[in-house]
Amino acid sequence: MTSITAPRGTRDILPGESWKWEYIINTASQTMKDFGFSEIHLPIFEHTELFSRGVGETTDIVEKEMYTFTDMGGRSITLRPEATAGVMRAAIENKLCVQGASAKLWNWGPMFRYERPQKGRYRQFYQIDAECLGIAGPYADVEVISLSIELFRRLGLKNLEVVINSVGCEKCRPVYREKLLKYFEAHKDELCETCLARMGRNPLRILDCKKESCGHVADGAPDIYDSLCDECREHFAEVRAGLERLGFTYTLNKRLVRGLDYYTKTAYEILSGDLGAQNAVAGGGRYDNLASAIGGGKIPGVGFACGVDRVMLVMEEQGCTFGKVPEISVYVAALDDNSRGVAQILTHELRMNNITAGFDTAGKSFKSQMKNASACKFACIIGPDEIANNVVAVKNLGDGSQVNVERSEVVKYIQGKIQ
Ligand code: ATP
Ligand code: MG
Repeated sequence: MTSITAPRGTRDILPGESWKWEYIINTASQTMKDFGFSEIHLPIFEHTELFSRGVGETTDIVEKEMYTFTDMGGRSITLRPEATAGVMRAAIENKLCVQGASAKLWNWGPMFRYERPQKGRYRQFYQIDAECLGIAGPYADVEVISLSIELFRRLGLKNLEVVINSVGCEKCRPVYREKLLKYFEAHKDELCETCLARMGRNPLRILDCKKESCGHVADGAPDIYDSLCDECREHFAEVRAGLERLGFTYTLNKRLVRGLDYYTKTAYEILSGDLGAQNAVAGGGRYDNLASAIGGGKIPGVGFACGVDRVMLVMEEQGCTFGKVPEISVYVAALDDNSRGVAQILTHELRMNNITAGFDTAGKSFKSQMKNASACKFACIIGPDEIANNVVAVKNLGDGSQVNVERSEVVKYIQGKIQ
């Protein structure tokens, strides 16, 4: 029978890597706390409508990347392709932002997109996501951007570039859209098929096309900054001033868009110079009209999502550390079969005192138990003599020295040595 493999675009995070993930998530969790963000746990699947309305019918995600199925109750369900829409749904449903209240929420977990798998691009991938809801002013944008920069600083990432833009609002974007349309009409022949299709529905997205020929056309397109209304212009200036106040450098890129009606004002990305084609480690921005798009009234919001898989790739590439390599402090070895039970009791006692302890459950020889012990700090050896004398032979595996310790004193003895 042929063996079953993981589906294309998914992978297993094995123990050799999972402790590094734990480090990234723990670092994120602490950074979020320090910035006043609380964790929220969300469903991994939602009603399809949340994403078609909350991400947008004309996006790549909704058009061709969603894992959608009908459940046994006849509902259209989608595995979440991103977190923002779900966070906003939860905030509306649980009334977190009523009467002017704001909420700073973060979460992490798997996202699903039917994409072409390649380095740094998977069908099941992981995001750390932070959203600041209920605040319209530019301080919130700076809070979110600085949070993502601080997270990467703590993780030790180097060679990053923060790119920002403003995509305007429902007042000024239609004006810009008209200007763009006129320009792209005149350059129709130079655009790819996809961009031609985008033209009628969402010309802003042409600015984002990765094809070189479209890129050339987009470079010459009208500048969005010339079309921003006073409010958007001022907001953008204040976001930039805030970033500068905190000492961050950034570049402006007028082609960075989140080309949807309910994405407003700030758009940003953090790019790594060490990732090749899939170079974005985080992306985010403001979405003041998302809540109303999913039927929740007026709740402004700004947030970011960071790709954990890509952060991991960059950290490995750059030789970053992942905190302490996990280790077992004590290995309890039994000299013969009769001693295994006593060894088991001592192991459990050590563990109950928060000491990481290992013990052979496979019935292996003493020699192979000691081989397992070699990566540990101490080996506790128990045989017939030790049992008869009510002691344990404690071997320091660093210097090879060995002492007999009273059975009742072993935990205290080890505690004293490993602190
Ligand atoms: P890209 O342009 O690389 O497709 P995106 O604009 O689709 O990115 P967002 O929706 O902004 O990405 O998601 C935020 C982050 O999630 C990205 O910056 C990236 O780090 C990560 N990400 C997105 N899609 C994938 C994927 N398929 N596999 C791994 N990471 C991903
Ligand atoms: Mg994408």
